[in-house]
Amino acid sequence: MNIEKLMQSLEAKHPGETEYLQAVKEVLSTIEEVYNEHPEFEKAKIAERLVEPDRIFTFKIPWVDDRGDVQINIGYRIQFNNAIGPYKGGLRFHPSVNLSILKFLGFEQIFKNALTTLPMGGAKGGSDFNPKGKSDAEVMRFCQAFMIELWQHIGPDTDVPAGDIGVGGREIGYLYGMYRKLARVNTGVLTGKNLEFGGSLIRPEATGFGGLYFVKQMLETAGMSIQGKTIALSGFGNVAWGAAQKATEMGAKVVSISGPDGYIYDENGIAGEKIEYMLELRATCNDIVEPYAEKFGAKFVANRRPWEVKVDIALPCATQNELNEEDARLLVENGVICVGEISNMGCTPEAIELLLQHKIMYGPGKAVNAGGVATSGLEMSQNAMHLTWTAEEVDAKLHQIMSEIHTQCVKYGRESDGYINYMKGANVAGFLKVAKAMLAQGVI
Ligand code: GLU
Repeated sequence: MNIEKLMQSLEAKHPGETEYLQAVKEVLSTIEEVYNEHPEFEKAKIAERLVEPDRIFTFKIPWVDDRGDVQINIGYRIQFNNAIGPYKGGLRFHPSVNLSILKFLGFEQIFKNALTTLPMGGAKGGSDFNPKGKSDAEVMRFCQAFMIELWQHIGPDTDVPAGDIGVGGREIGYLYGMYRKLARVNTGVLTGKNLEFGGSLIRPEATGFGGLYFVKQMLETAGMSIQGKTIALSGFGNVAWGAAQKATEMGAKVVSISGPDGYIYDENGIAGEKIEYMLELRATCNDIVEPYAEKFGAKFVANRRPWEVKVDIALPCATQNELNEEDARLLVENGVICVGEISNMGCTPEAIELLLQHKIMYGPGKAVNAGGVATSGLEMSQNAMHLTWTAEEVDAKLHQIMSEIHTQCVKYGRESDGYINYMKGANVAGFLKVAKAMLAQGVI
């Protein structure tokens, strides 16, 4: 495989799609070695076929706000690859959403979903709709208008959307309601549903829980314990909430959360009612964390990110490229031992490079945050069987899946000096599964 040539042709075809090109480059450069050991991959042009989505839907979403004004947003669904199972991946509602961001997320999802051991292909979608400051009725009307366009392209065995940034239980409920009305069926077409209509226990916590199961195993593999470690989290959404719960339960101390306005440093630890308070913060729809400082007497640092705090473990839980080279340098100087991306592509390539150079344990999002989509896969299984599992059953399966992902990363990522390159391990393991499936099914 000639990565340079392939990247050049992609850059020419998709100019300015920086996040997408970044995600592709990372995967290609880590799978190069194994790719070249399999001439059949080259012959079947697996890499060239894998980097282009199967298809992309773009649609206009007109809706009426509470003042009676007409609003117009853009909606997308990217069906990237379904070689190992139905297209699967979340919907992101955020003003930053564009084709490049959704293509990077859809591309990552292929490998993440392959790692979960469950039969799920990769997809992503969303809209530039900004839920911040919108009323419940506006969110409902928007979700309904979004689904009027999307419903014909999805189904429990074709494409199963879910949540991501800006899309939680409320939005999934409104989307599901409109799907059910239009398609006239009740199926597992979306995951992240409420329990009353086919949702799974543990799904809201799953990304955070899974992330901590993975990080704990990373530490144990290096002969360390998570007990007593300090953790910096970014974000204050669903993912950070689940991560804070599980980290505290494991005996670690979470000292930060963050929002677009800055970060909270709570040296006493964010535990118990303080974790639940994150839900309240979110419910205000103002997208700020500062009120936490006033309520609990903690420090608020405006317009900065929590990576300048001295901690043992850093867990980005907010969005892509939220931890850059300078942040990584600060973390290393402050003695960080592990960085685990619970957000998708949380670190910039330069930050990753620096962490690897210093042999810091680094877990990439597609492994560390796979617990969310894995539990979506478990929701699909329950829906297909028309039954529900207990929280203990789902949690046990999630734990087992995270452990299996860790094993795969170690298998393909261990270097000659014993250092485990989890990024390489995750990319190679995910890639091999999808590539073999594509090969076996011919050129389609
Ligand atoms: N948006 C989540 C992710 O990035 C979950 C996707 C899903 O549950 O399908 O993996």
